Amino acid sequence: MIKAIKSFRGGIKPGHHKVTAELETVKMPLPSKVVIPMLQHIGAPCMPLVKKGDRVLVGQKIGDSEQMIAAPVHSSVSGTVTDVRPVLYSTGVEVMAVEIKPDGLQEVHESVAPPVYTDKEGLLRSIRESGLVGLGGAGFPTCVKLSPPPGKVLDVLVINGAECEPYITSDYREMMENPEGIVEGTKRVMEITGVAKAFIAIEENKPLAIESISSLIKDGDNIEVVSLATRYPQGGEKQLIYTVTGRRVPVGKLPADVGVLAQNVATVAFIANYLKTGMPLIKKKVTIDGGAAANPMNVEVLIGTPLKEVFEFCGGFCEEPRKIIMGGPMMGVAQYSLDNSVLKQTNALLAFNENQAVETKESVCIRCGKCVAACPMSLMPLYINANVMRGNFEETMKYHVNDCMECGCCSYVCPASRHLVQSMRQAKAELRKLAARKQGGKN
Ligand code: SF4
Ligand code: SF4
Repeated sequence: MIKAIKSFRGGIKPGHHKVTAELETVKMPLPSKVVIPMLQHIGAPCMPLVKKGDRVLVGQKIGDSEQMIAAPVHSSVSGTVTDVRPVLYSTGVEVMAVEIKPDGLQEVHESVAPPVYTDKEGLLRSIRESGLVGLGGAGFPTCVKLSPPPGKVLDVLVINGAECEPYITSDYREMMENPEGIVEGTKRVMEITGVAKAFIAIEENKPLAIESISSLIKDGDNIEVVSLATRYPQGGEKQLIYTVTGRRVPVGKLPADVGVLAQNVATVAFIANYLKTGMPLIKKKVTIDGGAAANPMNVEVLIGTPLKEVFEFCGGFCEEPRKIIMGGPMMGVAQYSLDNSVLKQTNALLAFNENQAVETKESVCIRCGKCVAACPMSLMPLYINANVMRGNFEETMKYHVNDCMECGCCSYVCPASRHLVQSMRQAKAELRKLAARKQGGKN
């Protein structure tokens, strides 16, 4: 084990609240239905491949797209398609979804078999067919990430085991319960990409995970476990790459531009299992927590399971939840309905009570500069916020608003409780609309 060589700029040290860390993952039984959205990734939505009344099996592909940046979706149950209809995605956008009533048999589709390939392209096609997306929460199709653009040479692989956001422990459970899969998956990704050196980076507040993974690495593997300082957002891709390799990913550039590929621990563990079994991405480890959750725990859930049924399985609510968040408290997305489904990139479901979801009242910016000091992307949140308040959205580009990773550090430290992250999101959304209008598109 080695120490990180650099320290990233800004960041915060919020309370960890990782009360579920040492609780073994519990497998949730079959839900009464699954509702599987056709968009569970960054990129183009899939088109449904099944219709109402069809019988589907576990692992059967039920949606796909011809677009390059997309990942197919698969049925997580065997049963009957009861509807194919638009649903409001967890972010509020409307997407098509396939609703399936399980038959309880969990019969596996004939296509589920270890992938057969003769070259790298065949292997990448197989990984695309698995439906894999980045499981750390971003949801970018993994096969695209594993294929750097022409002219870009990757020489370092960084596996992200930081899990720096409060409450979430699902990656930690993966590291504790499946360290072999993580090391095996790291080796497979090194083979696929031809990268000679890999680092598995874990925050120093997870010593058992560091120990467990380190014990599986042999001389000659060219893999090192890196102990990271415990600081948010240590797991941000650019921050992680800098602390582990010392390489800075320039503004507007990708990790591949500095020769680095970053993957989440759960993503590589999935690859190891998929290459052995051929079972596509149909389930997720999810942390259930928050003051309103009766029994905080980690559960293995089938993708498409309604949030309501997940919370019911975990004992329901001990008090009225004020806010349900998919993901962590810093970067997660507030859910408007418990009918929403667990998605491929869902790593946590938090039920916050009255005290945890206090609505803060904004006051005037006192120009203390704390938001600037905390921003890991070296932005000036106060100026972006001021321009958003005046409706000067184009002006926010001068302050590089599109580089904002929406980590929430600025809002966290602001003594005036300015809604800074919301400003960033609003500015980015308005800029997207302006760009679409300029191209003659509709919004
Ligand atoms: S932290 Fe808040 S009060 Fe301080 S400069 Fe930034 S926006 Fe203004
Ligand atoms: S949310 Fe954006 S502006 Fe605020 S600290 Fe994070 S990266 Fe900087």
